[in-house]
Amino acid sequence: MNDVIRQINSSASMDLIAKAKALKEAGANIISLAGGEPDFDTPKAIKDKAIEEILKGNIHYAVGKGLPKLREKIAQKLMLDNRVNVSSENIIVTPGAKMAIYLAVRSCINAGDEVLIPTPSWVSYTEIVKMSLGIPIEVPLSYEDGYTIRASVLEQYISEKTRMIILCSPNNPTGRVINEEEIQELIRVVKNRDIVILSDEVYEKINYIGKGISPGSYDELADKTITINGFSKAYAMTGWRLGYLAGPSKYIDAVDKLYAHTITGTSPFIQEAATVALECHDDVINMQKEYLRRKEYFIKSLNALDGIEVIEPEGGFYAWCRFSFKQDIAGELLEKASVIGVPGRAYGTGFDNYIRFSFANSMDELIEAVRRIKKYICEVNNSRYSDVI
Ligand code: PMP
Ligand code: GLU
Repeated sequence: MNDVIRQINSSASMDLIAKAKALKEAGANIISLAGGEPDFDTPKAIKDKAIEEILKGNIHYAVGKGLPKLREKIAQKLMLDNRVNVSSENIIVTPGAKMAIYLAVRSCINAGDEVLIPTPSWVSYTEIVKMSLGIPIEVPLSYEDGYTIRASVLEQYISEKTRMIILCSPNNPTGRVINEEEIQELIRVVKNRDIVILSDEVYEKINYIGKGISPGSYDELADKTITINGFSKAYAMTGWRLGYLAGPSKYIDAVDKLYAHTITGTSPFIQEAATVALECHDDVINMQKEYLRRKEYFIKSLNALDGIEVIEPEGGFYAWCRFSFKQDIAGELLEKASVIGVPGRAYGTGFDNYIRFSFANSMDELIEAVRRIKKYICEVNNSRYSDVI
């Protein structure tokens, strides 16, 4: 095996999605809150379009950066929703946002370059950096400080080898949405430095505090930012594999070279369906409302339990839970309560007493999960278990 690949950790979230599926198929009464995946069906209009295109015979290579009409629509969306001003030539459509992130990192950094990753952070960033021969540098953000990004913190980890900072807003796993002050801190950090910002905005449409901010919309950052987004979360299209990246030509041209030799082009009928997705505003609003309802219930219920603290997520569909009484509880929760969450250590160093639960699950499942977690905690706390329904 290649020496670099040997060092790559598997994806905890993907592993647990697979484990939950296997356990359920074997008949176990498991509630999986591990995978970050909408439980909704893809809106019908999107599915109809894909079927129509397949039946029409639109099944040949779609060579290049993506269908011009889809890239045009994405450019309009980026302008309208995010105030990111890029031409359609500066957009590349990819099979999933994960691939967009990989292509961006792989084509922007050189071997030995350092990439700052504020933690807690999604499981794949560090591994993608390693696959790209870079060195991931975890920048631990403080729970007590609300995981705020500060120049003073980033500066401690910057060296002459720093080439990139990876941001995720709304954040997986914390649910934090980047704010104006944090952008100003970032501007201070990258000004006069040759550093690219990779801004992962895949949870953009799941936002409980109003519109998010895109770093790429700032004059000071526009020529330093690659914006990543996709269709998995906003339109419940995880299995379709569709995402994109947008940014200045110097980065997009590099990605384009890598793209032509690896992906060739993203499936044409899926791209056609994506043009319809970008018009499914009502479906998105309905899903947002339901996520909000679930968040209100789930976060409040978890916070009511003795020994768990959950930060109110500003976006996304995760509860990032800090347990006060024990380390490494994910294994025990599965064993004793049949509830699966992702262990905090998957999101960086120092998060052994955390678990990420996804609330992109039905209300019934969330209610049952809370009941089981409560029972488990009562047992651990050795308190009387009397008021659980
Ligand atoms: N970024 C983050 C933060 C994610 O949680 C995910 C979920 N898999 C992705 C990127 C990738 O999304 P996809 O490849 O399904 O578009
Ligand atoms: N993004 C989701 C998660 O964090 C899906 C799994 C993955 O790609 O890691 O659970």
